[in-house]
Amino acid sequence: MLIDALRDDFVFGSKGVKFMPYTTYLVEKGASHSFVAEAKPPTVTMPRIKALMTGSLPGFIDVVRNLNSPALLEDNVITQAKAAGKRMIFYGDETWVKLFPQHFVEYDGTTSFFVSDYTEVDDNVTRHLDKVLKRGDWDVLILHYLGLDHIGHISGPSSPLIGHKLSEMDNILMKIHTSLLSEERENLSPNLLVLCGDHGMSETGSHGASSMEEVNTPLILISSAFERKPGDIRHPKHVQQTDLAATLAIGLGLPIPENSVGSLLFPSIEGRPVREQLRFLHLNAVQLSKLLQENVPSYKKEPGFEQFKMAERLHGNWIRLYLEESTSEVLFNLGTKVRRQYLDALRTLSLSLSRQVAQYDIYSMLVGTVMVLEVLTLLLLSIPQALSSKAELEVPLWSPVFSLLFYLMFLVLSALHVIVCTSAESSCYFCGLSWLMAGGVMVLISALLCAVVSALAKMFASGKLLSKNPAHPNSRWSELDVVILLGTMGHVLSLGASSFIEEEHQTWYFLVNTLCLALCHEIYRNCFLGNDCEPRRCSHGERGFVNTAPALQDRSIGHDELEPHRVSKSPTSLNTLRGWEKWMAMASPWVILTCCRLLRSLNQTGVQWAHRPDLGHWLTSSDHKAELSVLAALSLIMIFALVQRRCSLTSKVAMALGLLGVYCYRAAIGNVLFPWQRDSKDISKGLIEARFVHVFVLGILFTGTKDLLKSQVIAADFTIKTVGLWEIYSGLVLLAALLFRPHNLPVLVFSLLIQTIMTKFIWKPLRHDAAEITVMHYWFGQAFFYFQGNSNNIATVDISAGFVGLDTYVEVPAVFLTAFATFAGPVLWASHLVSFLSSETSSGSALSHACFCYALICSFPVSAYIILVTSLRYHLFIWSVFSPKLLYEGMHILITAAICVFFTAMDQTNTKS
Ligand SMILES: [Zn+2]
Ligand SMILES: [Zn+2]
Repeated sequence: MLIDALRDDFVFGSKGVKFMPYTTYLVEKGASHSFVAEAKPPTVTMPRIKALMTGSLPGFIDVVRNLNSPALLEDNVITQAKAAGKRMIFYGDETWVKLFPQHFVEYDGTTSFFVSDYTEVDDNVTRHLDKVLKRGDWDVLILHYLGLDHIGHISGPSSPLIGHKLSEMDNILMKIHTSLLSEERENLSPNLLVLCGDHGMSETGSHGASSMEEVNTPLILISSAFERKPGDIRHPKHVQQTDLAATLAIGLGLPIPENSVGSLLFPSIEGRPVREQLRFLHLNAVQLSKLLQENVPSYKKEPGFEQFKMAERLHGNWIRLYLEESTSEVLFNLGTKVRRQYLDALRTLSLSLSRQVAQYDIYSMLVGTVMVLEVLTLLLLSIPQALSSKAELEVPLWSPVFSLLFYLMFLVLSALHVIVCTSAESSCYFCGLSWLMAGGVMVLISALLCAVVSALAKMFASGKLLSKNPAHPNSRWSELDVVILLGTMGHVLSLGASSFIEEEHQTWYFLVNTLCLALCHEIYRNCFLGNDCEPRRCSHGERGFVNTAPALQDRSIGHDELEPHRVSKSPTSLNTLRGWEKWMAMASPWVILTCCRLLRSLNQTGVQWAHRPDLGHWLTSSDHKAELSVLAALSLIMIFALVQRRCSLTSKVAMALGLLGVYCYRAAIGNVLFPWQRDSKDISKGLIEARFVHVFVLGILFTGTKDLLKSQVIAADFTIKTVGLWEIYSGLVLLAALLFRPHNLPVLVFSLLIQTIMTKFIWKPLRHDAAEITVMHYWFGQAFFYFQGNSNNIATVDISAGFVGLDTYVEVPAVFLTAFATFAGPVLWASHLVSFLSSETSSGSALSHACFCYALICSFPVSAYIILVTSLRYHLFIWSVFSPKLLYEGMHILITAAICVFFTAMDQTNTKS
């Protein structure tokens, strides 16, 4: 009986005493052995089921596969049991059915993704119980209860619902146990009942990381074959979760799964005769030493192996004595010695194997790192070109293809590939690729290298030519550029420390606040000192990244007339604003800072202080449903007011109906209330309402795209294009409003509010250049990623967003919706950037500048991070901290690529018009 997210203190702590009296009785006085089993991160269901059944340590990629698990091919207890002709029945989490297809003679899987439901998932399992317990036609029954985990996700471990669920589970355990006992009276052979959890739950109620609460789970073995305990014993020993596979295999008389790193839980065989005990220990030790031989070339020198050989020799002596029937005392003493020796050997072997399992494919990692480095160098080298006012980014990829250097590089790399792949012993992903693919990668690496070399040569040549020109007097940096540059560098450096990754939101909150203060400084100087100290220059180019040839700025100034829209404005900046607007401009940084402070207290995030109470918890608790409803309704009205201004009439109507639909959807699934509703009795999945909103989202996106195409094909109509872009933007806002939990709707409101304020009072009057505006958008996008309550921890991904409007799990839309809901902050800010730049500036270069800056500012930390993780792969926190962050960054790169494609498409239409 597996109870999802059963934490150790739910059984062994005060909650257990209160809500699970029967289990507590069994633990304290019954014929049982209890342990605290430690789960290894990632503490996600699917890898944990694998660990329980195979005894091996699954890799991190299993977190991703957790969403859609393929059949388990590795040797495991279930497959062995099936091969031995055991009849198995399974009820519960569908993952098991996917992992072990055709293994069960009877099964009923429930999908684990409707996190909002915590009664039906369990009733689905329990309803079979009465029938199946009466039947005697099975050998193994597996039950996986999901309700507790779902309660954790909805309302956390201190919710009153937990107690109800625990007593429900206790009753079920009692039912199973009494039925097994009565069956034993007829059959006379003992049964084994195992109660365990797959992982715990953190103080916020989710799981995935490696805090004590998530890692420690109870493991209770109950069988009348065990001796009854004399009295009250409650200090469960800590063991590994992987130990269960070996114990179950021995208990069922099956071979131990070959990749299992666990050691037999000795108390479970303590009651057997010494001869059997030694036999079982020997089986386990042989299996572990075999695994060691396969994985470690120098296995003979391992202390565990030596201990095992020693134990085997002693065991031989013991058998000789046993057969000679020598005095029982000598035999007993030797037996105890052999047993101790075996147990030591098992412990050492198991420990060194758990360390060995993390093997790295160095060659493939090296190839990837080299490619990332080359792309990064190329990006950095093309800064001067890309940010000049001509805004051309030419990657000289074709000319080097035919150069001599390219062919030489290609030959050398291919030779290296052949040597590495023929000499490598362990399996390597890159060597496993087909020759065509590997050849393609070689071509890419050599071509990129040649491009880098030629770009370097070009820069050198032009640098020599241009250095004669005196530096332009205006080419010094503004304070804002310094803030941006230092902030970016600081953020990249901070990624080297695990705590800075766990608490990365603090870095972004700090950077955004600093940015606001820098803007404040700029506004005030502008207001009080007027034009004399006007810091802005007309060039909009390489500042912020200026270490390039200064003469380029001369050129960009020469091209400034390309921006008629900006230049035609009065040259003075804040003086264009009327009286009250000036005051508003001066107040705006403080308004933004206030918004950020409010948002910050909405969702506590990170790892260290995530359990602290925050506004989000207060709002989502069931006592404050009315407040949450008012807040959600107000937020939706605000969203409409802020977003509708620039849309066409049809989109306005669609937007209003869509937002109404969002409220109806939340009311249908029981998050919020209508004023005429007293309490939410009938909770549905809200399919109709959600699909209603989806239709409007698609409608608005379609209208927007249509306008864009019209502006491109029919006429160079600037206004139609702008409207089209804003419509696409508002379509995305509507989708985000649908997917965000109701207490998070203020995040969306504040995001729109800050964008409006910044546009009206800061970016337009102060005339920042495209590069600066891009970086500001990127920073705010990152900060909003954390304001939403996200963190660099897998546990904060809200998978329920992937099921809005879906009946069952459909992979593509579910993954898309979850990704959009998670990265809504960065995506909305990026699309605001596109709309803003194309509506405010008519020049073509602004967008391509922005695109380049966006790609650069995203890829810089990501590539730095990839290189860093490669070098830190033996770090203690590699699985719990660095890898999840890498996963997020990988997702971020994909999204950045999509955004850049969007940018480029817009740029094309811009150039045409
Ligand atoms: Zn689970
Ligand atoms: Zn869960």
